[in-house]
Amino acid sequence: MKGFVFQGPGEASWQDVPDPAVKEPTDAIVKVGVATICGTDLHILKGDVPEVRPGTVLGHEAVGEIVEVGGDVRTVRPGDRVLMSCITSCGRCRFCRDGSYGQCRGGGGWILGHLIDGTQAEYVRVPFADLSVHPLPGALRSEDAVLLADIFPTSYEVGVRNGHVRPGDTVTIVGAGPIGLAAIATARLFSPERIIAVDLTPARLEAAHRLGADAVADVHEAPAQLVADLTDGLGADVVIEAVGVPESFELCTRMVRPGGHVANVGVHGRPATLHLEDLWIKNVTITTGLVDTSSTPMLLRMAAAGRLPTGQLVTHTFPLEQMEEAYEVFSRAGETGALKVVLGGEQHAVVAVPAA
Ligand SMILES: [Zn+2]
Ligand SMILES: [Zn+2]
Repeated sequence: MKGFVFQGPGEASWQDVPDPAVKEPTDAIVKVGVATICGTDLHILKGDVPEVRPGTVLGHEAVGEIVEVGGDVRTVRPGDRVLMSCITSCGRCRFCRDGSYGQCRGGGGWILGHLIDGTQAEYVRVPFADLSVHPLPGALRSEDAVLLADIFPTSYEVGVRNGHVRPGDTVTIVGAGPIGLAAIATARLFSPERIIAVDLTPARLEAAHRLGADAVADVHEAPAQLVADLTDGLGADVVIEAVGVPESFELCTRMVRPGGHVANVGVHGRPATLHLEDLWIKNVTITTGLVDTSSTPMLLRMAAAGRLPTGQLVTHTFPLEQMEEAYEVFSRAGETGALKVVLGGEQHAVVAVPAA
């Protein structure tokens, strides 16, 4: 079969790899129908995630059809259409028993496209299949469901839920890429008073508006002042960091009100400064986290009911075998306007960014 193989920093290609096979009785083999590329994959390609070994098939977000299961798999069978979650779960360790699947110590957690071969391929082996794939409601298109492999649960759990968004809050979201936009969509489920989005690029700020941000600010145009102006000088109740650079984290801590929450979602590759000289007196709660995907079944029900704007995040589609072209478009998001790039599925033509 073919898969997108990481060969070392800056090098990867769509190439022949051995077909995956059932290794453990809890495994399933899934034929990939729709896959997507994550910002985290770009971090891996840059060499920011050194535990990814050369030779690994990348990808941790996909939808497909079960083609084979090990003898101990009980909840899915060949022919079932499933979402492959970015997090797998052994179900037995201390963390899994607590619902903290992302921290699994029993061989699960974030392993696909990280520690084992991932989903940017024609077939993938998913360990602990009973707890790690989600059968899809019939009404849900694969192209929509794939956004629930990572983007929606991550922004909801690590951003909105860790940030304790409540009705009437002012929520500021720094970074209007796919994660930040999904944070806007899921923060709205709690009826905040207003959502303010901050980003560098006009196209992403426009997308933030479409997804429901009430105010948007260019990061170079004093976003902290805008937040202060809109909140009688107090700052936002909740600030969500969805970029992953020191400057944006530090900006978040300047925009939060006393007693507020800063929820970091961004993947950081460099140290950020924690300004305790300002923060020690502000009763601020700062959270970090890796997604557990414990919210995925709920999000799937909401997506099937048409309550999540999944389709609005997809700007480009490609056939699976055009993985290299898709990476090219996704990695130049500033020029191409790419948000989520979806591979496979029914539409095979590259589509333009929808007009506002
Ligand atoms: Zn991802
Ligand atoms: Zn576990």
